[in-house]
Amino acid sequence: MENLDYYAVLQVSRDATGAEIKKAYRKLAIRYHPDKNPGDKEAEEKFKLINEAYGVLGDEEKRAIYDRYGKEGLERQGAGFHAESMDDIMDIFNSMFGGAFGGFGGSRRRTGTPHYAMDLEVELDLSFQEAVFGCEKEITLQYKAPCEACRGTGAKAGQMETCATCGGQGQIVMRQGFMTFAQECPHCGGRGKVARESCPECQGHSYRIKEETVTLSIPAGVDTGNRLRIPAKGNEDAQGRRGDLYVLFYVEEDEHFVREGNNLYIEVPVFFTQCILGENITIPSLEGELELQLKPGTRDRAQFVFRGKGVPDVHGGRTGDLIAQIKMILPKKLDTDQKELLEQIQESFGVESQPHKNRFESAFTKIKNWIKGEK
Ligand SMILES: [Zn+2]
Ligand SMILES: [Zn+2]
Repeated sequence: MENLDYYAVLQVSRDATGAEIKKAYRKLAIRYHPDKNPGDKEAEEKFKLINEAYGVLGDEEKRAIYDRYGKEGLERQGAGFHAESMDDIMDIFNSMFGGAFGGFGGSRRRTGTPHYAMDLEVELDLSFQEAVFGCEKEITLQYKAPCEACRGTGAKAGQMETCATCGGQGQIVMRQGFMTFAQECPHCGGRGKVARESCPECQGHSYRIKEETVTLSIPAGVDTGNRLRIPAKGNEDAQGRRGDLYVLFYVEEDEHFVREGNNLYIEVPVFFTQCILGENITIPSLEGELELQLKPGTRDRAQFVFRGKGVPDVHGGRTGDLIAQIKMILPKKLDTDQKELLEQIQESFGVESQPHKNRFESAFTKIKNWIKGEK
C-alpha cells in the first residue's frame, strides 16, 4: 500500500491543532459524503481516505505515533486504521455528526429498515437580524418515505431474489497483496437480495419524496454552524416512524456589526478634532442608541466596551458585549484658512509640537560620532 500523508489528505499543516483537524475533516467529509455524491466511486474513495486520515490524526495517541514512526509504525503497534468496510467508516463519521448524514452504512444490512438514513439535514440562511433576535421561519422540506407499492423494497410486487454477485452474503472479499478486505457488495448494496424486477412506482428506489411545511422557532443568538434538532421531522420508515431533522444555520454578515462569538464589534468614525477635544456621541446598538463618551485625547483604535450589549447566548448563558472601536478620521484637504489655523495651533504648543526633535537629538550626535570614527 502506498504511504499516504494524512496531513495532506486533510489539507492541514503538521502543527495543526486538534480543533483545526476536526474542522478540516468535517468540511471534507461533508463534501465527499456518499449521500452527496451518489454513485461517484472517486468521491467514495476520497471519503474513505479522509476518514482513514481522521481516524489517526483525530486521536492524539495515534497521531503522536504517526508523527514519529509514520503509518508503518502505527501498524507495528497495532494502532493502524482498521475500518474494514464502509459501515465502520460511517461509524466514525456518525459518531462525530450524530448520525445526521448517516445512511450509507450502518442500518443497511439489517432487514426491514429503509435503505436511506432516518435523519435529515437541511441548511438554512438567516439574516444577521434573524439570528441575533431569533425568529420563526417556515420551511418546506422534502423527506423520504417507503414506496407503498413495493413496501420499501424497490422490487415489483415486493419480489426479491438472491444477489448473484455476492451469493446472498452482502459482502465480497477483495485481495490486496496478502491482505483481504471484506467490502459491501456493490450490486445489492450489502442486502444480499436484489429486485427481480424494479418497482414501476418508484423506479426501484424504494422510496418516494413527501413534502411538509414546518415552522421553526429559532432561538435568539444562533450563529453560523449551529444546528437545531427537530424531533420526528426526518425520513419515515416502514412503520411510519420519523427520524430527526437537523437544521444547520448560515448567518449573513451585517454591514455595521461584526460578530465574534457573542461579542459585537462596531467601528465608530470620529474626526480628529473630536478625538482631541472629547465629545459625547451616539452609536447604534441592538437595543437602540447608546451614548459613547469620548474623553479629550481619545486615541485612534481605542475600544469602549458596553457590557451585556452584545448578542444573547443561544444556550441561555451570558449575553455578549458590544465593543466600539474608534477610527480617527483626518481631514482630506485643508483650505488656506484651516492651514493657517493649524499652524497657529502647532506654534502655540512650542517644543511639545516637535517631539521627534527631542527624541532624536542624542541619536543624531551618536551617528555623527560614528561617521567621524570611521575616517
Ligand atoms: Zn416501489
Ligand atoms: Zn450482492
